[in-house]
Amino acid sequence: MSSSGAKITVALRMRPFSSREADEGAEQVVHMTGAPSVNSPQHTTCTLTDPDSGDIRKYVFDACFDSTNPAGSHNAGQQDVYVVLGAPLVLAALSGVNGCLFAYGQTGAGKTYSMMGVESAPGVVPLLLDALFAALDRNANPVVVASYLEIYNEELMDLLQPRSGGPLAVREHPARGVFVQGLARVGVTSAADAGRLLSEGSKMRSVAATAMNASSSRSHAVFMLDVSVDHPASGQRVNAKLNLVDLAGSERQAKTGTTGARFKEAVAINSSLSALGNVISALSKAAAKGSKPKHVAYRNSVLTRLLQQSLGGNSRTAMLAAVSPAHTNFEETLSTMRFAKRVRAI
Ligand code: ADP
Ligand code: MG
Repeated sequence: MSSSGAKITVALRMRPFSSREADEGAEQVVHMTGAPSVNSPQHTTCTLTDPDSGDIRKYVFDACFDSTNPAGSHNAGQQDVYVVLGAPLVLAALSGVNGCLFAYGQTGAGKTYSMMGVESAPGVVPLLLDALFAALDRNANPVVVASYLEIYNEELMDLLQPRSGGPLAVREHPARGVFVQGLARVGVTSAADAGRLLSEGSKMRSVAATAMNASSSRSHAVFMLDVSVDHPASGQRVNAKLNLVDLAGSERQAKTGTTGARFKEAVAINSSLSALGNVISALSKAAAKGSKPKHVAYRNSVLTRLLQQSLGGNSRTAMLAAVSPAHTNFEETLSTMRFAKRVRAI
């Protein structure tokens, strides 16, 4: 339990202006300020300007990824994001340390682009799969098992093996720990194999959302990998779980006009995102004091219950906070920066 609740790596990524923002002549309110290092386009400081008052707030993160710098070399690509947020999880997993990566932010801010990416620019998850399988030593009898699920309105659904029996339940087993009863577990032997599951599951996520007359941005998607290998030194079997989470959009619903299904969604998302923030900050506060966290409210959401063992315990956690550059998204960007700051603060 040495790295229990260790400091969390938090990176902010600002996407380029969308064509709509550009057409509207949106002003840029997020700026990267800490000088980028010689070898990497990553800054560590950014500012957010209030478009009404002109007030400027400054934030420090482990990395701030730009995409609007006229000097193109200062803009971050998928690989830059992977190096900061994904690569440490691969190293951790191979030595038996669990890992979680979350993408947080309002809908349209770049969560899925950063996690999954596009054909021409694969995101952190496919890059992580490539690195993981490249690093696995065949002589170490590696076994990798993938699952993919989504949480919508606090209900859990399998994205690899849709079933008619209704939502799946999170259970706790004295020896196995927390698990999802009936969740498909698919053995994978290559990055391409795992990538196929990822794209099939992602397709299922949007099909399921459409069927419920909802948007896939209103669900959390969790891609899980169980990795086990013989430890090169001790020869002992080591196991680790990686959870790669594309969170539901963090935007606040308009106070008026939100009724019925949309209201229920909004309540579920707000409460699970705040449960996540509370759990992470309780763990990092305890880690800072060198003490064991006492009351961590894992039970307040399906998401935190599910991820309990890979958040607490022997684990490494990273978060990507995705934001728009435009003044029209100021309020949501402010709330994302506040969340990210709180998660990182010790
Ligand atoms: P979210 O998942 O947070 O709702 P998306 O990842 O779908 O947002 O991003 C919204 C749009 O912006 C998509 O068209 C996506 O391709 C584009 N986009 C997001 N981030 C970037 C980026 N860093 N570079 C280029 N395009 C991006
Ligand atoms: Mg998305």
